[in-house]
Amino acid sequence: MVQCDSCDKESLELQVTALTDLIEVARAVVSPLDLDTVLQVILDSAMRFADVPAGNIALFDENQQELTLHAEAGFSPAFPRNEQWDVVPGGITQEALQTGEVLCVEDTGETSFALNPIAAREGIRFVICVPLKVPGSIVGLLYLNDFVPRRFRLEKLKLISVFASFAAMAIYNARLHTRTKQMAITDALTGLHNHRYFQQLFNQELGRAKRYEKPLSIIFMDIDDFKKFNDTYGHANGDLALALIGKIVTRSLRRIDIAFRYGGEEFAVLLPETRLESALQVAERVRERIEKDTLDMLPFVAGHGITVSIGVACYPLDGSTREELFAKVDALLYKAKESGKNMVHYFKGDTAV
Ligand code: GH3
Ligand code: MG
Ligand code: MG
Repeated sequence: MVQCDSCDKESLELQVTALTDLIEVARAVVSPLDLDTVLQVILDSAMRFADVPAGNIALFDENQQELTLHAEAGFSPAFPRNEQWDVVPGGITQEALQTGEVLCVEDTGETSFALNPIAAREGIRFVICVPLKVPGSIVGLLYLNDFVPRRFRLEKLKLISVFASFAAMAIYNARLHTRTKQMAITDALTGLHNHRYFQQLFNQELGRAKRYEKPLSIIFMDIDDFKKFNDTYGHANGDLALALIGKIVTRSLRRIDIAFRYGGEEFAVLLPETRLESALQVAERVRERIEKDTLDMLPFVAGHGITVSIGVACYPLDGSTREELFAKVDALLYKAKESGKNMVHYFKGDTAV
């Protein structure tokens, strides 16, 4: 018979608790919970296992070299919860990011970490910093902290790394999900939103405009003689022109306006809280810029730049349903084409001008 002394029993209990926590964490990772909730479950479990009073999980943006907090526990109200912060050169975070190794500082008072203003203010004296790794990159960091220096059994770090890999997996999946969702509503050639998203957002913005009794303008445009452009300069250059026009449209808008590639060589813009007069100014600016910039910026274009015909309508002036408003801009576009192209049309009363 195997004799179990109190020390073995304690270590067995610890292992069972850790395994139970791991199962809970695994369950959270595959659940439909949002990322921050999953990360909080992981942090709480890792803190319990490490027996520390504080900790946090930050996501790392490799391009911006920036960290953002996504889960935390045990800090003062002054802890920076809604900020992004840069990686401090020479600090423990930078070292963990560079080496990809788990770092454990048993007494930060003897290191440069003590100079970190957040650490100093919070009184952090003990840090474990675990890089959250997926193949090819580090997506975040798990920090476990104490406010007194302490010894830490290094073999415990192995299991903490398992908690960390769950966190890394959760972040990776969430990012993949966001990217896939983004791709589904983005037009690959121009980077603008696509037709499908236009329908969705038009509905949404019209609903909002009605609720808050604000105007909503819509600009609809179609490139003039684009078939001829393709015939003259080739289809590949036609694609370059479409991408450039996408950029020109975006650059001509305010931050709250939303541009879409509606179809082949058709673009739409939704302008929330915008009256017809202002939308007409935007449309005119877009028309002028496209004509000028396509000549200046496309080296193969000679003679004159690309022109567009534009229709502009506004809720509630021109209609109150999506169908009504869209029928109006479409008719205005047709009218602009008929009247010689390269112009902006709108309804003045019942007359298209
Ligand atoms: P209009 O002034 O009446 O609008 O004449 P148009 O030639 O522009 O109009 P039409 O609708 O007859 O033809 C649109 C052309 O746009 C046909 C098609 O070759 C071109 N086009 C549509 N999508 C793309 C695309 O993704 N890339 C390129 N290069 N051309 C495209
Ligand atoms: Mg067309
Ligand atoms: Mg056209």
